[in-house]
Amino acid sequence: MIEHGGGRVKPASLEAVHAARSLAAKTGGQVQALFLAQANDPAQQTVVRSGVDQVLLMIHPELENYTSSRYLSTVVECIKKGGPLAVLLAATNHGKELASGLASMLGSGLATDCIGLDYIEGTGITVQRPVYGGKALSSVEFSGPDPAIISLRPNVFRPDSAPKETEASIIDHSPEWSGQSRLLNLKEIVKGGGALDITEARIVVSGGLGMQGPENFHLIETLAGVLGAAVGASRPVVDSGWREYSNQVGQTGRTVAPDLYIACGISGAVQHLAGMSSSKCIVAINKDPEAPIFDIADYGIVGDVLKILPILTQEFKKALQE
Ligand SMILES: Cc1cc2nc3c(=O)[nH]c(=O)nc-3n(C[C@H](O)[C@H](O)[C@H](O)COP(=O)(O)OP(=O)(O)OC[C@H]3O[C@@H](n4cnc5c(N)ncnc54)[C@H](O)[C@@H]3O)c2cc1C
Repeated sequence: MIEHGGGRVKPASLEAVHAARSLAAKTGGQVQALFLAQANDPAQQTVVRSGVDQVLLMIHPELENYTSSRYLSTVVECIKKGGPLAVLLAATNHGKELASGLASMLGSGLATDCIGLDYIEGTGITVQRPVYGGKALSSVEFSGPDPAIISLRPNVFRPDSAPKETEASIIDHSPEWSGQSRLLNLKEIVKGGGALDITEARIVVSGGLGMQGPENFHLIETLAGVLGAAVGASRPVVDSGWREYSNQVGQTGRTVAPDLYIACGISGAVQHLAGMSSSKCIVAINKDPEAPIFDIADYGIVGDVLKILPILTQEFKKALQE
């Protein structure tokens, strides 16, 4: 899995390629690089000449900015088609997040921040990772379904020499999302039914202090009614008695992972994100363009939530009737 930016591949990803090549030499397998981008990118050429056998290219305008839900669903589809033995990622912020998401979505074993990697006939892949603050090393074997998901500590797997000047073949795995297909997905999700327990619902519409008072929650309930969604809330909303505790999403509330999470007037504090960041698609409405919730949102609407919610409800109604 390749990370890049500004037309360059991150060195930690080239190290992951090097580690993958060493592993493939032992297993007799091939090395494929997963490259996601919004459009053709100069960094592609570096990957093509990095010593991998194939580059799996996923190009789509919606991949312009990293969002865990968008990247995860794209990569999971690709992994399911390819059936690799292992997926190696650099243990960067994005790499760590993707690694845990991939392991959870694929039901695979996960080893993070590894500093050693080997393949033993009969045992399979083994990794070494520091534990107890680096005072001890643990050796990990994988059980359960492939692929093993492994994040590698940067600056450990540096290649001694440049890879051989070979050119990898390119396989186009670009997703074919369009506004229409997303709409159809929404219809499917809504048709799938709205369990009203927030932990089971496929759609959750949540309100935060930006809703400004319990009297405005009818706007959230109306949208939730149209979508067959459950209503969620941030902790201060619950603490203020606007909603019941069973609605609270976050570290000290419920953990939800719906297909669609709509955050209304929620800032995106880390304790709230802890309960909803695995949602497949996150929509955020906030009047503050700098609100942290926009960092993880797939779609963001900047404006007054009390004005936007009625419009959004009408638009969803129309879209679902078409
Ligand atoms: C130990 C601990 C555990 C916690 N557990 C949880 C938890 O489980 N769940 C949880 O949610 N929090 C939890 N918190 C609290 C968390 O830190 C935040 O304080 C909380 O999530 C903020 O809630 P909020 O986003 O509703 O409010 P705020 O942070 O006040 O954000 C309100 C947002 O609304 C926006 N806004 C205001 N008016 C409008 C408008 N008219 N239109 C659009 N946007 C508007 C503002 O720009 C702002 O971004 C916990 C905290 C601690 C210390």
